[in-house]
Amino acid sequence: MSKTLIGPVSQILPMDNMSLNGPLKDSHLSIIKNGAILIENGHILTLGSYEDLKNENAKKIFIEQPTVALPGFIDAHTHICFAGNRAQDFAKRIEGKSYLEIQREGGGILHTVKETRYATQEELTNSLLLRLDQELLQGVTTVEIKSGYGLNVSEELKILKAIQRASNEHYITCIPTCLAAHLLPADFTNTKEYLAFLLKELLPIVSKKKLAKRVDIFIEQGAFSATESFSYLKAAKNMGFEITVHADQFHVGGSIVAAQVKACSADHLEATTELEMAQLLQAEVVPVILPGASLGLGIPFAPARKLLDFGLPLAIASDWNPGTAPMGKLLTQAALLATYEKLSAAEIFAGLTYRAAKALRLVDRGILAPSLRADIVFFPTADYRQILYYQGALLPWKSMIKGEFCCVNIC
Ligand SMILES: [Zn+2]
Repeated sequence: MSKTLIGPVSQILPMDNMSLNGPLKDSHLSIIKNGAILIENGHILTLGSYEDLKNENAKKIFIEQPTVALPGFIDAHTHICFAGNRAQDFAKRIEGKSYLEIQREGGGILHTVKETRYATQEELTNSLLLRLDQELLQGVTTVEIKSGYGLNVSEELKILKAIQRASNEHYITCIPTCLAAHLLPADFTNTKEYLAFLLKELLPIVSKKKLAKRVDIFIEQGAFSATESFSYLKAAKNMGFEITVHADQFHVGGSIVAAQVKACSADHLEATTELEMAQLLQAEVVPVILPGASLGLGIPFAPARKLLDFGLPLAIASDWNPGTAPMGKLLTQAALLATYEKLSAAEIFAGLTYRAAKALRLVDRGILAPSLRADIVFFPTADYRQILYYQGALLPWKSMIKGEFCCVNIC
């Protein structure tokens, strides 16, 4: 296939040669001014100054407007394969009811389970494709998507197949995760029995049919205990799954388990203290924080600044789900997090690119560098600082996935 040269680009932020762990300043960003990117076979061949590359024997895509290019964003934690909505939960929440109270009154996750079980696989695929369009509009080029609204064998498989189908049909790469251990379904009375059931009846099929390589669990009061989660995750790991954990959202306990099983990531962490941070650091677990859930619930953000200052990496994801994070606007959420938690643009962009790739164990993206995937987002500005300044109102004019421009605002 022939080569393609894109440029001139006012600023290219490759996000390369930056630390995986700890705080970052904008002075750590390498910025290629008036740059160009040479692409072949969906991958980056080289990038550098437009002057140096403009005479390459390649198809030229000339950019006339001011533009900032970054690695495509990676939304490393979502629940966007679902049916229905939870507006009734929201109405109760703004009356002052808590998450657990709403759950006890028949709302919460089990309400979405009911609606998702009613939906066909095709309906789920179609609604998921529309949500992937929304992700793409914000510059997201890879999305992790959890099951977890089926909670039995056939329904969990239906969701995972819908994700697989959507991934095949959409530009965006979907990374599926089996979250059958989201909550105890009404069909079971005992969490231990349910987890044993999943290990015996569901996970072998998920593995055999290659529907997901990752397993997640919600460790929380009212969901699954730390002890039973540890046994479940250990067994899932022995079956060859990568592990991620919903940890420390309201109470601590989950991230310790994530560290014990050497999970890829521990996600949420709103309640995390230095004790848990030390364990995560030692076990090299990537914290993924979810500002959208804090905005949806009206609770403080996870301690992002402290996690970074403690020397941990920090990925930022939307947690887009029908209950606690219905907004699904990753860029807006990341920009708000920056203002509240005092994170630099470098820390935010790292959290949306190469640190998010690390959370998902993806080694072929998250950075713009030779031989990596040409997943690139282009913003209509000459100054990268404007991207967060506009709090998600400045959207990319184009995104590219595996070297192919995707239709966003202007086709
Ligand atoms: Zn979640």
